Amino acid sequence: MVKEQLRARGIQDLGVLEAFNKVERHKFVLPELKDSAYGDFPLSIGEGQTISQPYIVALMTECLQISPSHTVLEIGTGSGYQAAILAERALHVYSIERHEVLASKAEALLKELGYGNISITAGDGTLGWQEYAPFDRIIVTAAAPRVPLPLLEQLRNGGKLVMPLGGSFGQILTLAEKERDKITYRKICDCVFVPLVGKYGTKVNN
Ligand code: SAM
Repeated sequence: MVKEQLRARGIQDLGVLEAFNKVERHKFVLPELKDSAYGDFPLSIGEGQTISQPYIVALMTECLQISPSHTVLEIGTGSGYQAAILAERALHVYSIERHEVLASKAEALLKELGYGNISITAGDGTLGWQEYAPFDRIIVTAAAPRVPLPLLEQLRNGGKLVMPLGGSFGQILTLAEKERDKITYRKICDCVFVPLVGKYGTKVNN
């Protein structure tokens, strides 16, 4: 996976590659999908949600240029795999998942794997996590037409946020950077994510 899907496609950050070598992806997928855990595609994790394709997880992590002093907010814990990758690079990861079942499953797994620097809560991540703001880095692993305002407010000056922006059928992975309270946006690549459902995201009743 690391050689053929990440390095071959241009992921160069040695810290990111090291994290992928260390975190065992098969522990984060459903038992019946373990044989496909290292495939070049997203996989179902239940509740109609997915664990993203390895390359996308790596690309988003690389874009954030995380250093060991950083606190990171993740919206969309899902399986907890991205949180584990982030936790290998950062001081602390705060992660929010709207499906309580997924949040508690990920929390239990990450605890079992020994991650003491990840905090997970169930709720609407579009509101951010004010108690621990501001964050050095924010990653949103579900798509919306624009970045939820509370997340831009909870991003520290000098901080970076990565998120898929667009409609339900396809989005553009976008890097937002905040300097002196001004946000600039940079397009990274086309992508397809599940919707970010919440007050400042897509309004869907499920
Ligand atoms: N990062 C995850 C992983 O490593 O497995 C994959 C995330 S999956 C592509 C997107 C996740 O975002 C889903 O689990 C979904 O339930 C969650 N989600 C969608 N809207 C949300 C919201 N408003 N707040 C928190 N989580 C949300």
